[in-house]
Amino acid sequence: MKIDIITILPKLLEGPFNDSILLRAQKKGLVELNIHNLREYSSMRHKNVDDYAFGGGAGMVMMIEPVFNCINHLKETTTYDDLIYMSPDGEMLTQKVANTLSLKQNIIILCGHYKGIDERIREHLITREISIGNYVLSGGELPAAVLCDSIIRLLPGVLNDETSALEDSFQDDLIAPPTYTRPAEFNGWKVPEILLSGDTAKVEKWKHEKAIERTQERRPDLLD
Ligand code: SAH
Repeated sequence: MKIDIITILPKLLEGPFNDSILLRAQKKGLVELNIHNLREYSSMRHKNVDDYAFGGGAGMVMMIEPVFNCINHLKETTTYDDLIYMSPDGEMLTQKVANTLSLKQNIIILCGHYKGIDERIREHLITREISIGNYVLSGGELPAAVLCDSIIRLLPGVLNDETSALEDSFQDDLIAPPTYTRPAEFNGWKVPEILLSGDTAKVEKWKHEKAIERTQERRPDLLD
């Protein structure tokens, strides 16, 4: 899978992709992540990427031209399945959205800033808009990193234990069961006896029951 991210703040994206699972996924060649600095696609002398809003009002708006140039440049060598704009009024990011996107070959993610982007980019170039929650952040970089993480960990071979992503919360619309590790007793706090029994079938049954119990308790909406 290839993910091209368009941003005016490439540095903000260096951290999340240069450690742990996301770095390993790139090293293994399971995902190619390219970060494109939007300023390089501005034809203006001072490499401007934003301008005042027509009709007035506070806040700058990201201009069409650099985004258009950058997307055209990327499209010269790649055919994209989706051109995503991170936006607080987009479709909410859920595990299902992540699952769907993990099956794509090539995607572009555009990070907005300031007041957002010129509406005509959304109308004519963007194919999908995704929000990471009902709150407003100052830029699309952190949302893009969240989206990428949710997708990349699902790619086959990225997680060491192939099945572990399937057991996470929200797959099958259930919350994950509680987890424990050594020691079996700490400070008088004990691990449920059944997990120490070695009886795999019973353990699996217990985990499933706990997952349902938790979902009923914490997220009954998922069971509907
Ligand atoms: N004026 C816009 C907010 C702009 S915030 C509005 O009221 O809807 C600046 C940029 O941050 C946006 O263009 C978007 O790319 C990103 N952003 C902010 N909050 C986000 C969220 N919850 N999900 C996804 N992207 C978000």
